[in-house]
Amino acid sequence: MIIDIEKIIAQQNLLQKLPYKTGINQNIIVDVLRLDKIDVVASGNKLFKLDIPLKKAVDNNCTTIITTGGPYSNHLIATAYICKTKGLHSVGIVKAHHTMKLTPTLQDCTTFGMGLIFMQPTDFNNKEKLEQVLKKYDNSFWIDMGGYSEGGTEGCTKILPLIDYKKYTHIITAVGTGTTLAGLSLSALKHQKIVGISSMKGNSNLQTSIERLLNSKPHAAFELIHDFNFGGFAKHPSALIDFMNDFYEQYDIPTDIVYTGKVFYAVNRLIEASYFPPNSKLLVIHTGGLQGNRSLPINTLVF
Ligand SMILES: *Cc1c(COP(=O)(O)O)cnc(C)c1O
Repeated sequence: MIIDIEKIIAQQNLLQKLPYKTGINQNIIVDVLRLDKIDVVASGNKLFKLDIPLKKAVDNNCTTIITTGGPYSNHLIATAYICKTKGLHSVGIVKAHHTMKLTPTLQDCTTFGMGLIFMQPTDFNNKEKLEQVLKKYDNSFWIDMGGYSEGGTEGCTKILPLIDYKKYTHIITAVGTGTTLAGLSLSALKHQKIVGISSMKGNSNLQTSIERLLNSKPHAAFELIHDFNFGGFAKHPSALIDFMNDFYEQYDIPTDIVYTGKVFYAVNRLIEASYFPPNSKLLVIHTGGLQGNRSLPINTLVF
């Protein structure tokens, strides 16, 4: 891996205990695995998801990595940054109108040397149009939107062994493509339950996409929860913003409007609703990436 995670872990504790006040008979422990502390740009789960696909690209003598994402994509910026570090070219196909002013995230992508191609949202799912773009690049390696892949899943099996994870009863993560969740599920112990908080509204394909990544291998049970998307991908009503600000002031943990803000909010609500049995030990994965927050007017967040 381009970033020596072992070294980072030796230097700082990535595990943070949350002194949650849970109900009288609940006795629930909540620990957070702060993957966001690994690196500001190649933050959180992206480092794990990209490691094996990029190795594969290099092994196949591919020199240009092409992938795709939105204007505030954690995946695009992490890809741009890691490719630069590895001496690879990168191209990002952005789901947006090309008349759009570059977002701070996309500006950073170009600073890391990523070439940007804009595709109208209506053309985005058109395979032929996409193939026309890909044809222009020799020795290119394609990575699916959000890094959805078996290699990414395998990379994410390296997350739990970073810490003493065996004592936990539940492992909670944000879910976009489900690649991270699949990796967690493959590496967890059989009695542990993985709880995935979906960031999208009514993503009915998610279960099937995750099962495809699990590929019938033995894995810990998982449950997808769709109730905390706050109206859909990147939607952020003031209830979410207020929660994120309070959460930061209380625990000094920055979260984002797309993924982790919704996860920590969900954890609170699920504890209140007695979703977790008494004496549960929860491990919440802070999956990193704060790019979505750059879409907010300044001073919306206190951090
Ligand atoms: C990309 C991302 C996710 C989604 O991960 P998947 O493996 O696609 O489910 C979750 N959290 C953050 C912060 C991310 O950047």
